[in-house]
Amino acid sequence: MGTHDQVTAPSTTASARLFDQACAVIPGGVNSPVRAFKAVGGTPRFITQARGCWLSDADGNRYVDLVCSWGPMILGHAHPAVVQAVQQAAAGGLSFGAPTAAETELAAEIIGRVPPVERIRLVNSGTEATMSAIRLARGFTGRPKIVKFSGCYHGHVDALLADAGSGVATLGLPSSPGVTGASAADTIVLPYNDVDAVRQTFARFGDQIAAVITEASPGNMGVVPPAPGYNAALRAITAEHGALLITDEVMTGFRVSRSGWYGIEPVDADLFTFGKVMSGGLPAAAFGGRAEVMEKLAPLGPVYQAGTLSGNPVAVAAGLATLRAADAAVYAALDTAADRLAALLSAALTDAGVAHQIPRAGNMLSVFFAEEPVRDFASAQASQTWRYPAFFHALLDAGVYPPCSAFETWFVSAALDDAAFDRIAAALPAAAAAAARERTP
Ligand code: PLP
Repeated sequence: MGTHDQVTAPSTTASARLFDQACAVIPGGVNSPVRAFKAVGGTPRFITQARGCWLSDADGNRYVDLVCSWGPMILGHAHPAVVQAVQQAAAGGLSFGAPTAAETELAAEIIGRVPPVERIRLVNSGTEATMSAIRLARGFTGRPKIVKFSGCYHGHVDALLADAGSGVATLGLPSSPGVTGASAADTIVLPYNDVDAVRQTFARFGDQIAAVITEASPGNMGVVPPAPGYNAALRAITAEHGALLITDEVMTGFRVSRSGWYGIEPVDADLFTFGKVMSGGLPAAAFGGRAEVMEKLAPLGPVYQAGTLSGNPVAVAAGLATLRAADAAVYAALDTAADRLAALLSAALTDAGVAHQIPRAGNMLSVFFAEEPVRDFASAQASQTWRYPAFFHALLDAGVYPPCSAFETWFVSAALDDAAFDRIAAALPAAAAAAARERTP
């Protein structure tokens, strides 16, 4: 696609028809709520193909992809090495329900990058990883309570949905009906970045707390990095009280560096959870940590955890190919792309006179319409999110696909090139002006 293609007023007729058809058979027409565009309005685009940093929809529109499947696609879409690995694995059989050598290779690849991880088990989604990690933490410690932080999202695990970010934040749900009082009763929710709140909670309930679970650097209330020393304080407090620290790297893992957030801030948690990048866009995830803890898992220990498709050969091949292709040049390209995107966003919003914050966590970034830096979920919610739908739609109309919620991270890929940045630069002034025109609802 050339630099100056005109993409104003794109047709959405085919996407609208497909969305109607989907709504007749799938609740809300989507298989994960954020995709329905509820927070921004309008018609979700039905994607037909993706290559490099470009998405194509059912109407033939093309977009620069700044979502990257919510994180996994660091190499861009349909990367030749990943596609070839998947094709080769698929030709050899789709699932065996028996061990394969490639599972050991993927486990070793992850262990080699995150030293506190001595053993790892593969699962099918980030949700399963965090669910299994908290079960294991409870089984290991013999304690019931879990501490989580407001605005952190760890998947749709019952006990972790309380005050969660991501789609729960987008839809403004405090938690979810269907989660019983019993399954949430042992979850203590604390404000993020508030060490004193953690200390006070441990002073009161220390001997009942199995684990603290935290996003390594939160990206599900927008990007809200840990304050300096925050993760280290969580490590120290949990250790002092015999509780485990679970660092959720589903989003950050192998995205923000080859060792994930651990590569930026090496805090030795007891358990880590991974997903997204490590499976290259296919359904696989993992949890791992200290051998002493992980060996409480069945079949060695009494904590049960299993999966028909866990370690699926095609997903493992995609993950291995992605991790192996993501060399130093790829991580440098991701950082450069994030720098370029943040600079363009900031310049356009400044020119339009819109107060904004562009927080960064490595190559992850997000846009808050706010005067002051955001440091927790309350300040994220207090930002001018009502400016976001107009900003979003102006970008989308101009062929740039940002996240469809003010509470989500913008994800770059190493495939973003000059043509993509020209498209973004051309789209931003009108989008910033649209954000500036919005008035408090
Ligand atoms: N943990 C974090 C930090 C996430 O960002 C997500 C998903 O966005 C999950 C867990 C859940 O992963 P999945 O959607 O694969 O179940």
